[in-house]
Amino acid sequence: MIIKMKRSATGEQIGTVINRIGEFGLGIRMTITDGHTLLTVTGGDDRLGTWTPIHMPGVESFTLDIEHVLPEKITVSVGGQEIGSDKLCMIAGPRIIESEERIFATARELHKCGIKIMRGGSYSPNTSPYAFRGLESEGLRMLRSAADQYGLLTVSEVVSLAELDNAAKYCDILQIGARNMQNYRLLQAVGKTDKPVMLKRGVAATVDEWLDSAEYILREGNSRVILCERGIRTFETATKSTIDIAAITSVREKSGLPVIVDPSKAAPHGRFVPSLSLASVAAGADGLMIDAHPNPAEALSDSAQQLSFSQLSKLIDSVRYIALAMGKSV
Ligand code: PEP
Ligand code: MN
Repeated sequence: MIIKMKRSATGEQIGTVINRIGEFGLGIRMTITDGHTLLTVTGGDDRLGTWTPIHMPGVESFTLDIEHVLPEKITVSVGGQEIGSDKLCMIAGPRIIESEERIFATARELHKCGIKIMRGGSYSPNTSPYAFRGLESEGLRMLRSAADQYGLLTVSEVVSLAELDNAAKYCDILQIGARNMQNYRLLQAVGKTDKPVMLKRGVAATVDEWLDSAEYILREGNSRVILCERGIRTFETATKSTIDIAAITSVREKSGLPVIVDPSKAAPHGRFVPSLSLASVAAGADGLMIDAHPNPAEALSDSAQQLSFSQLSKLIDSVRYIALAMGKSV
């Protein structure tokens, strides 16, 4: 259950609700969104039975479902970035971290382009078991040290509970990949951390299923969820997946959560990335996550879709125009 307090709720009223929940043997995680205190009940709200907080002073509403409690735009703060604000969130980096030298070169180039968040997989859930899947914890360590040298934030995918602690040590944002969108134990585990979570949409997940997965994270008290549309499986095979442009508005309206788009996972080739990026920003995306590599031709993973840094920098210049039309900036 998520209890939304009135903007005018006093500290005493909030305390009374928390104590009442405590009488059921349950805990509370508290977050503040748009002036409202949100109290997320933790520990299994089936223990509440038919009790509801609706008559308690200071309570505005309650729900078992985020769709009804978070209709307003939410921004997720991380390291001075406000994801979901009028400033687009730009993330770039290699599909998979390959070496110290390449990830430092990436960090330097991102810094030059003004990009603040560096991506890079290190436990990559590649479809083919024969493909390069990353350097595991060694790659995460490289990602962190390169990011630190250039003052960047990091995001990388967590594929299982086993490496969660390690990922949390090196990453500012934890990525849950498309293939794990419905791995509920993993969702609950990242929900218990204090890191923002980027939740990718599963290739065959509806918007509502995607949001239900987001709720698994939110219900553990972690309110910093960023959604990422990366394309879904359709009958089309000319592209890797189909970016669901309308879903951007749909999830934003239903949940208020910020939505970023990863065009690279839909692109069969890097030349598709600019148009998919511009279309996504025009459709209301709060940011982009783009595969970029110091030398795409030599990339060990998805080489065709990686952008070079000169291509990335050109793309950012064109994104600026669309951002402006949307009342945003880059
Ligand atoms: C990735 O971003 O490296 C990745 C594996 O993406 P997805 O989970 O969307 O396939
Ligand atoms: Mn729902």
